Amino acid sequence: MSSRPRVLVVSTGGTLGMLQRDPGALAPSEVSENVLKYVQGLDSAVDLHAEALWNLDSSDMGPGHWTALAELVALRRESVDGFVILHGTDTMAWTASALSFALRGLDRPVVLTGAQRPIAWVRSDARPNVVNSALCAGMGIPEVCVYFGRWLFRGNRVSKTSIQSYEAFESPDCNPLLELGVEVRAIEAPRPVVGDFGVDARFSREVAVVTPLPGSDGEALDALVARGVRGVVVRAFGSGNLPQAGWPEAIARATEAGVAVVLSSQCLRGQLNATAYEGGRKAVEAGAITAGSMTMECATVKLMAGLGRGLAGEALIAFYTADQAGEGV
Ligand code: ASP
Repeated sequence: MSSRPRVLVVSTGGTLGMLQRDPGALAPSEVSENVLKYVQGLDSAVDLHAEALWNLDSSDMGPGHWTALAELVALRRESVDGFVILHGTDTMAWTASALSFALRGLDRPVVLTGAQRPIAWVRSDARPNVVNSALCAGMGIPEVCVYFGRWLFRGNRVSKTSIQSYEAFESPDCNPLLELGVEVRAIEAPRPVVGDFGVDARFSREVAVVTPLPGSDGEALDALVARGVRGVVVRAFGSGNLPQAGWPEAIARATEAGVAVVLSSQCLRGQLNATAYEGGRKAVEAGAITAGSMTMECATVKLMAGLGRGLAGEALIAFYTADQAGEGV
């Protein structure tokens, strides 16, 4: 019997598996399983299995794909020690956040990775990303993670912060779990497994994100409410501040109409402290919920998850403000 950890590599598309067509843009590879032929030798450390779910640019993925991925993990969980999900970088942070909420009581690694350049290219970040992700997937860490560059991150804490760098992701307010340099260095302890495994992969699509501009008056929020959204993430200034003229009233109108309003920040780092200034204080008084130190992606996906589960009012606030998956409340 093999003592190598059994790892299922699930391919969803993205740059990593693309082939170069000349001339023209990169096209999705027809044979995403072929990725594994570029990481020969990896199977001496990991018992690799592959499955291709679809072959999409991640910008074309959405809540339906998050649900399908969560269900696949649930289906295959007992037959593998860990998962690698090959995913485009553009929306990887969104999918990782979604899986972290959908997979409760997760007891083994689910590692999302991708690349800035296709694995078929000689000079590419794809090979080390796939190799190290597969090794991480065999390490028993019971979390949804993102591996990129040389870091294993908690998946719901990352944002894509660089278009060109091979270190395309950052985890602004949470240390990486591991650094895979010459040595493997443990940095942040993984979360303990909480409760039995279960899946709840319902996500509302009736959620929008709005970025207030200096001098704006909340009309954009009214317009979203009029269009029938059920939740809005407002990307406030700094610690959670907003223009006082119009925004607090617009938030009050939204919450009275049963629309959940979350305050997130235009800043990449830091913990919201919305009541520090008058505009934010009035927004909270008008019913806005604050997003702690969650990334914008995670704050939005968490709202989609809460509404998807049919939560409203106090129950939604209780879900939203409680720690569900180490997301940084
Ligand atoms: N557009 C690609 C995607 O997100 C970019 C990448 O994979 O890096 O699918």
